[in-house]
Amino acid sequence: MPFSTLGLSDPILKAIAELGYQSPTPIQEKAIPVALTGKNLIAAAQTGTGKTASFTLPILEMLSKGETQRKKRVRALVLVPTRELAVQVADNVEQYSKYIGLTSLAVYGGVDDKPQRQRLIEGVDILVATPGRLLDLHSQKAVYFEEIEVLVLDEADRMLDMGFIEKINDIVERLPLDRQNMLFSATLSRQVRELAKTAVHNPVEISV
Ligand code: AMP
Repeated sequence: MPFSTLGLSDPILKAIAELGYQSPTPIQEKAIPVALTGKNLIAAAQTGTGKTASFTLPILEMLSKGETQRKKRVRALVLVPTRELAVQVADNVEQYSKYIGLTSLAVYGGVDDKPQRQRLIEGVDILVATPGRLLDLHSQKAVYFEEIEVLVLDEADRMLDMGFIEKINDIVERLPLDRQNMLFSATLSRQVRELAKTAVHNPVEISV
Protein backbone atom coordinates (compact mmCIF):
# COMPACT_ATOMS: atom_id res chain seq x y z
CA MET A 1 0.00 0.00 0.00
CA PRO A 2 1.50 3.38 -0.94
CA PHE A 3 1.65 6.30 1.50
CA SER A 4 -0.52 8.36 -0.84
CA THR A 5 -3.62 6.29 0.06
CA LEU A 6 -3.54 7.20 3.76
CA GLY A 7 -4.98 10.71 3.47
CA LEU A 8 -1.80 12.74 3.84
CA SER A 9 -1.26 15.77 1.62
CA ASP A 10 1.53 16.46 -0.85
CA PRO A 11 3.94 18.51 1.29
CA ILE A 12 4.06 15.70 3.85
CA LEU A 13 4.28 12.96 1.21
CA LYS A 14 7.16 14.83 -0.39
CA ALA A 15 9.07 15.07 2.89
CA ILE A 16 8.71 11.37 3.68
CA ALA A 17 9.59 10.36 0.12
CA GLU A 18 12.80 12.36 0.45
CA LEU A 19 13.59 10.45 3.64
CA GLY A 20 13.40 7.28 1.60
CA TYR A 21 10.21 5.89 3.15
CA GLN A 22 8.64 3.78 0.41
CA SER A 23 5.56 2.39 2.07
CA PRO A 24 3.89 2.69 5.46
CA THR A 25 4.71 0.19 8.20
CA PRO A 26 1.79 -1.90 9.55
CA ILE A 27 1.17 0.41 12.51
CA GLN A 28 1.23 3.44 10.21
CA GLU A 29 -1.22 1.77 7.83
CA LYS A 30 -3.68 1.20 10.64
CA ALA A 31 -3.19 4.24 12.86
CA ILE A 32 -2.81 7.12 10.40
CA PRO A 33 -6.31 6.90 8.81
CA VAL A 34 -7.93 6.58 12.26
CA ALA A 35 -5.94 9.47 13.70
CA LEU A 36 -6.87 11.66 10.75
CA THR A 37 -10.58 11.27 11.60
CA GLY A 38 -9.89 12.90 14.96
CA LYS A 39 -10.80 9.80 16.96
CA ASN A 40 -9.07 8.75 20.15
CA LEU A 41 -6.85 5.73 19.77
CA ILE A 42 -4.69 3.39 21.78
CA ALA A 43 -2.07 1.33 20.01
CA ALA A 44 0.24 -1.48 21.02
CA ALA A 45 3.50 -0.90 19.18
CA GLN A 46 7.14 -1.46 19.99
CA THR A 47 9.93 0.99 19.25
CA GLY A 48 11.30 0.44 15.76
CA THR A 49 7.89 -0.22 14.19
CA GLY A 50 7.49 3.32 12.88
CA LYS A 51 5.13 4.34 15.67
CA THR A 52 6.46 7.89 15.86
CA ALA A 53 5.33 8.68 12.33
CA SER A 54 1.94 7.10 13.10
CA PHE A 55 1.09 10.01 15.35
CA THR A 56 3.35 12.80 14.10
CA LEU A 57 2.21 12.61 10.46
CA PRO A 58 -1.54 12.92 11.29
CA ILE A 59 -0.79 15.74 13.73
CA LEU A 60 1.11 17.65 11.04
CA GLU A 61 -1.67 16.99 8.54
CA MET A 62 -4.42 18.16 10.89
CA LEU A 63 -2.59 21.25 12.15
CA SER A 64 -1.64 22.35 8.65
CA LYS A 65 -5.30 22.38 7.60
CA GLY A 66 -7.80 25.17 8.04
CA GLU A 67 -6.62 27.80 10.45
CA THR A 68 -3.95 29.66 8.56
CA GLN A 69 -3.33 32.33 11.12
CA ARG A 70 -0.37 31.42 13.21
CA LYS A 71 -1.21 30.71 16.83
CA LYS A 72 1.59 31.31 19.25
CA ARG A 73 0.44 28.64 21.62
CA VAL A 74 1.02 24.91 21.66
CA ARG A 75 -1.57 22.95 19.64
CA ALA A 76 -0.25 19.40 20.00
CA LEU A 77 1.43 17.94 23.08
CA VAL A 78 3.45 14.71 23.03
CA LEU A 79 4.40 13.32 26.44
CA VAL A 80 7.42 11.01 26.48
CA PRO A 81 9.38 9.27 29.26
CA THR A 82 12.91 10.44 28.50
CA ARG A 83 14.99 13.28 27.16
CA GLU A 84 16.40 11.01 24.44
CA LEU A 85 12.95 10.15 23.16
CA ALA A 86 11.84 13.80 23.35
CA VAL A 87 14.75 14.84 21.14
CA GLN A 88 14.16 11.95 18.74
CA VAL A 89 10.43 12.66 18.32
CA ALA A 90 11.02 16.39 17.84
CA ASP A 91 13.71 15.58 15.24
CA ASN A 92 11.25 13.42 13.34
CA VAL A 93 8.63 16.18 13.41
CA GLU A 94 11.23 18.59 12.11
CA GLN A 95 12.01 16.29 9.17
CA TYR A 96 8.38 15.57 8.32
CA SER A 97 7.40 19.26 8.46
CA LYS A 98 10.09 20.41 6.05
CA TYR A 99 7.44 21.65 3.55
CA ILE A 100 4.83 22.92 6.00
CA GLY A 101 5.14 25.89 8.28
CA LEU A 102 4.81 24.27 11.67
CA THR A 103 7.30 24.46 14.51
CA SER A 104 8.25 21.91 17.14
CA LEU A 105 10.29 21.84 20.31
CA ALA A 106 11.52 19.25 22.82
CA VAL A 107 11.52 20.21 26.50
CA TYR A 108 13.01 17.98 29.19
CA GLY A 109 14.61 18.21 32.60
CA GLY A 110 18.24 18.13 33.64
CA VAL A 111 19.20 21.16 31.58
CA ASP A 112 18.80 24.93 31.93
CA ASP A 113 15.21 25.88 31.12
CA LYS A 114 16.07 29.33 29.70
CA PRO A 115 16.51 28.30 26.04
CA GLN A 116 13.31 26.22 26.25
CA ARG A 117 11.39 29.18 27.71
CA GLN A 118 12.71 31.47 24.98
CA ARG A 119 11.58 29.09 22.23
CA LEU A 120 8.15 28.84 23.84
CA ILE A 121 7.84 32.63 23.81
CA GLU A 122 8.64 32.64 20.09
CA GLY A 123 5.80 30.17 19.51
CA VAL A 124 5.68 26.40 19.14
CA ASP A 125 2.96 24.32 17.45
CA ILE A 126 4.03 20.85 18.53
CA LEU A 127 5.62 20.39 21.93
CA VAL A 128 7.35 17.15 22.91
CA ALA A 129 7.91 17.01 26.65
CA THR A 130 8.87 14.92 29.63
CA PRO A 131 6.22 15.27 32.35
CA GLY A 132 8.22 16.91 35.15
CA ARG A 133 9.75 19.69 33.09
CA LEU A 134 6.44 20.38 31.40
CA LEU A 135 4.71 20.86 34.77
CA ASP A 136 7.48 23.19 35.91
CA LEU A 137 7.19 25.28 32.76
CA HIS A 138 3.40 25.39 33.04
CA SER A 139 3.47 26.38 36.70
CA GLN A 140 5.84 29.22 35.77
CA LYS A 141 3.48 30.31 32.98
CA ALA A 142 6.16 29.66 30.37
CA VAL A 143 3.71 27.49 28.44
CA TYR A 144 -0.07 27.66 28.00
CA PHE A 145 -2.38 24.72 27.39
CA GLU A 146 -5.55 26.50 26.22
CA GLU A 147 -4.99 25.83 22.51
CA ILE A 148 -4.01 22.17 22.80
CA GLU A 149 -6.07 20.09 20.37
CA VAL A 150 -4.15 16.81 20.45
CA LEU A 151 -2.47 14.87 23.26
CA VAL A 152 -0.16 11.92 22.66
CA LEU A 153 1.10 9.64 25.41
CA ASP A 154 4.11 7.93 23.85
CA GLU A 155 5.69 4.83 25.44
CA ALA A 156 2.97 4.95 28.08
CA ASP A 157 4.18 1.74 29.75
CA ARG A 158 7.64 3.21 30.24
CA MET A 159 6.20 6.42 31.65
CA LEU A 160 4.26 4.37 34.20
CA ASP A 161 7.34 2.27 35.02
CA MET A 162 9.21 5.49 35.68
CA GLY A 163 6.57 6.62 38.15
CA PHE A 164 5.07 9.43 36.08
CA ILE A 165 1.42 8.53 36.70
CA GLU A 166 0.63 11.43 39.06
CA LYS A 167 2.41 13.93 36.86
CA ILE A 168 0.57 12.68 33.78
CA ASN A 169 -2.78 12.91 35.55
CA ASP A 170 -1.91 16.40 36.75
CA ILE A 171 -1.08 17.48 33.19
CA VAL A 172 -4.20 15.87 31.71
CA GLU A 173 -6.38 17.71 34.25
CA ARG A 174 -4.96 21.01 33.06
CA LEU A 175 -5.72 20.39 29.36
CA PRO A 176 -8.80 21.53 27.44
CA LEU A 177 -11.51 18.85 27.55
CA ASP A 178 -12.22 19.02 23.85
CA ARG A 179 -9.16 17.34 22.39
CA GLN A 180 -8.03 14.23 20.54
CA ASN A 181 -6.01 11.68 22.51
CA MET A 182 -3.62 8.97 21.33
CA LEU A 183 -1.76 6.49 23.48
CA PHE A 184 1.12 4.32 22.27
CA SER A 185 2.63 1.59 24.39
CA ALA A 186 4.75 -1.52 23.84
CA THR A 187 2.12 -3.44 25.80
CA LEU A 188 -1.43 -2.60 26.75
CA SER A 189 -1.10 -3.80 30.32
CA ARG A 190 -3.79 -3.35 32.97
CA GLN A 191 -2.04 -0.21 34.27
CA VAL A 192 -1.81 1.26 30.78
CA ARG A 193 -5.52 0.60 30.26
CA GLU A 194 -6.25 2.31 33.60
CA LEU A 195 -4.40 5.37 32.38
CA ALA A 196 -6.26 5.22 29.08
CA LYS A 197 -9.56 5.19 30.98
CA THR A 198 -8.89 8.62 32.44
CA ALA A 199 -7.10 10.24 29.51
CA VAL A 200 -8.27 8.53 26.32
CA HIS A 201 -12.03 7.99 26.29
CA ASN A 202 -13.66 5.48 23.93
CA PRO A 203 -10.56 4.79 21.89
CA VAL A 204 -10.20 2.78 18.74
CA GLU A 205 -7.76 0.01 19.65
CA ILE A 206 -4.97 -0.82 17.26
CA SER A 207 -2.42 -3.60 17.38
CA VAL A 208 0.00 -4.97 14.85
P1 AMP B 1 10.09 4.43 15.42
O1 AMP B 1 9.47 3.08 15.66
O2 AMP B 1 9.06 5.49 15.31
O3 AMP B 1 11.14 4.76 16.43
O4 AMP B 1 10.80 4.41 13.98
C1 AMP B 1 11.92 3.57 13.71
C2 AMP B 1 12.71 4.04 12.48
O5 AMP B 1 12.01 3.72 11.28
C3 AMP B 1 12.98 5.52 12.42
O6 AMP B 1 14.34 5.70 12.12
C4 AMP B 1 12.11 6.04 11.29
O7 AMP B 1 12.72 7.12 10.64
C5 AMP B 1 12.00 4.84 10.39
N1 AMP B 1 10.71 4.77 9.66
C6 AMP B 1 9.49 5.07 10.14
N2 AMP B 1 8.53 4.82 9.23
C7 AMP B 1 9.15 4.34 8.12
C8 AMP B 1 8.70 3.91 6.83
N3 AMP B 1 7.41 3.90 6.52
N4 AMP B 1 9.62 3.47 5.94
C9 AMP B 1 10.93 3.46 6.28
N5 AMP B 1 11.42 3.86 7.47
C10 AMP B 1 10.56 4.30 8.40
